[in-house]
Amino acid sequence: MKAIVKVRPEPGGTDILDVEMPVCGPNDALVKMDVVSICGTDVHIYNWDKWARNAIKPPLIYGHEFSGTVVEVGKNIDYLNEGDSVSGECHIYCGHCQQCKLGNAHICENLTAFGVSTPGVFCEYQALPAQNLWVNDPKIPKEYLSLQDPLGNAVHTVFSTDVTGRNVAILGCGPIGLMAIAVAKAAGAAQVVAVGHKNEYRMDLAKKVGADHVLRAGDDFEKISKELTGGVGMDAVFEITGNPSAVLTGMRMARKGGTLALLGIFNEPVTIELNDNVIFKCLDIKGIYGRRIWDTWILTTGLLKSGKLNLDPIITHRFKFDDFLKGMETMVGGNSGKIIIDI
Ligand SMILES: [Zn+2]
Ligand SMILES: [Zn+2]
Repeated sequence: MKAIVKVRPEPGGTDILDVEMPVCGPNDALVKMDVVSICGTDVHIYNWDKWARNAIKPPLIYGHEFSGTVVEVGKNIDYLNEGDSVSGECHIYCGHCQQCKLGNAHICENLTAFGVSTPGVFCEYQALPAQNLWVNDPKIPKEYLSLQDPLGNAVHTVFSTDVTGRNVAILGCGPIGLMAIAVAKAAGAAQVVAVGHKNEYRMDLAKKVGADHVLRAGDDFEKISKELTGGVGMDAVFEITGNPSAVLTGMRMARKGGTLALLGIFNEPVTIELNDNVIFKCLDIKGIYGRRIWDTWILTTGLLKSGKLNLDPIITHRFKFDDFLKGMETMVGGNSGKIIIDI
């Protein structure tokens, strides 16, 4: 079968290869991939940055966002059937550590991930742990199915606090930031302020998915936040850039007693004066990781079925499998929303 493989430990270093068919283990299901999408994580792997150099051991089939069809079910599994349309939670959890027992499998003590620590989905078939598969609701538009993993990140972040009727700011207009805008609008936020940086293409997408205001590098974010909220500041700010300076921006945009939820992952430590920015204003800070398993997926399915979530503007490119590298280069270039690949 054909697979996209990170072959060499260097920037790029990716080839389309003919590899052996995966074997379906007793607790797995073999999935024939229909559509995959390229995630920021895949860009890190492609670019071979510091995180990737530590996390990835080539050769590796990467990719973790997909929709596909079950073609074989492991002998221990009785809850999946051949022909099921599935997507998947990429975080592989152990099921027996204390976090798993507490219902926090997304922060399992023994967490691994397919497409990072084990073979991923940029290929024609993959054997995946059956417990990680999510049977898709037939009412959800097909082109949205592979997006449920990053959309789940956005849903987990936005629903970490009340947004209905509230003033919300979203820092970052990458694919997950754009999804968070759409989710906050669908959830009935009073107004959604998106903060971009310099990427006009993505700031334009932010408008298209419903941001009421789009701010950019050079704007006085704190002053504008106050002006838009009768002098109070934003009820909730979601940090989805991973840029250290955005944390202070978020703290200053938030109102006293507001919430700052952090989803972006930082390449370096963040130094911040806490007295004025957190303690004296009683700011509520939350770390957000992955998707709650399976609460976030249930909520995401419900939002998609509501018909209120318009993700069409976010899917900006669609490529054929053999043109995968073109898709990756487009994503690296930054003038894209989400890129999906037909297998
Ligand atoms: Zn992803
Ligand atoms: Zn666990």
